[in-house]
Amino acid sequence: MSENKKIYLDHAATTPLDEEILQKMLPYFTQVFGNANSQHAFGRSAMAILDDARAKIAELINAADNEIFFTSGGTEADNFAVFGAARAQKQLGRNKIFISALEHSAVRESAAYLAESEGFVVKEIPVNENGVIDIEFLKNAVDEKTALVAVMGASNELGTIQPIKEAAAAAHRVKATFFTDCVQYAPYIVPNVKELGADILSFSAHKFYGPKGTGILYIKNGTPTERLIVGGEQENGMRAGTVNVVGAVGAAAAYEKAIAQMSESNEKIGRIKELFLREITRLPYVHINGGDEGECVPSLLNVRFDGVDNSSLLALMDMNGIAASAGAACSGGDVRPSHALIAKGLTEEQAKNSIRFSFGKHNTEEEVIAAARTIAALADKLRR
Ligand code: PLP
Repeated sequence: MSENKKIYLDHAATTPLDEEILQKMLPYFTQVFGNANSQHAFGRSAMAILDDARAKIAELINAADNEIFFTSGGTEADNFAVFGAARAQKQLGRNKIFISALEHSAVRESAAYLAESEGFVVKEIPVNENGVIDIEFLKNAVDEKTALVAVMGASNELGTIQPIKEAAAAAHRVKATFFTDCVQYAPYIVPNVKELGADILSFSAHKFYGPKGTGILYIKNGTPTERLIVGGEQENGMRAGTVNVVGAVGAAAAYEKAIAQMSESNEKIGRIKELFLREITRLPYVHINGGDEGECVPSLLNVRFDGVDNSSLLALMDMNGIAASAGAACSGGDVRPSHALIAKGLTEEQAKNSIRFSFGKHNTEEEVIAAARTIAALADKLRR
């Protein structure tokens, strides 16, 4: 990490591109630059590279090559999944969508649009006080009208891992499509699509030291799906637009590296988080909303500072060179209380006292301890 002396604790938002991955990507900006769908040698070279990247990703998640689609990011992949699956199922007479109360806005807003504009009925799967979906609710609620069930792999706000296998089984019992957003899960746990039982699964390269603007969507062969972006016939006719070959190369190389380093890196990040946690919980008014116990990704910790407004604390932290984040930021830079924290049972006030810290492979023990001490002093100051 550069940005001298600054401490970056926002890896759930994005990670820096790995230098080695950058080197692997560079030739495909200037040397092998063809349009992968062009019918000449330049195009064929680009297509061969794209095929390799697709095959690598497919192998890593136990999919077939033709089940992998590259998108412009996790958001597009999520939109594609929700719109594509729901609309295709509607042709089969199904109009209900279940989404977990934790879903990222890319899923929530897609479902909300379908409810407002296309006659779908959207229901939220509630979450218990541990930040995990109520699987019994889902099992009892799905029926033969259910088009789609969407449950994310891990919460981007709480870090909690969700029972995706069980959710997939519940969806399949009524022949609904099961989609899982694994944007925050895949950097820490390899999503084996067959073992999970996912019909559709998304993830995003910039969360594991790959390039921004490259999402990956797995769609199991035979899953009813409509395309989202129309135009040319790229990506097997499923996603129009000149394919971002260099992004695909970066995504595949970054994920291969992430998996090779996963157990070591998870262990290191978990240790760093533990140190930060130990230091920050010395404050008597600190409570942990998620990430400290139960099944969680190693990187994420959601901390509540009672009586401290999170936007004020984040601003002071920023002035002191420490980056973290709160709930979803809206366009004005205002911080809304996180829907995931509210779903877990926090009051609006408590949600506005909460900050998400997410650690990464470049963080050191010294810097997270220093960060925790600075944050403690700033929070004390704000409470006075
Ligand atoms: N889904 C989840 C769970 C996320 O955390 C994010 C980004 O933070 C996204 C989707 C969107 O991914 P992208 O930033 O690649 O559009």
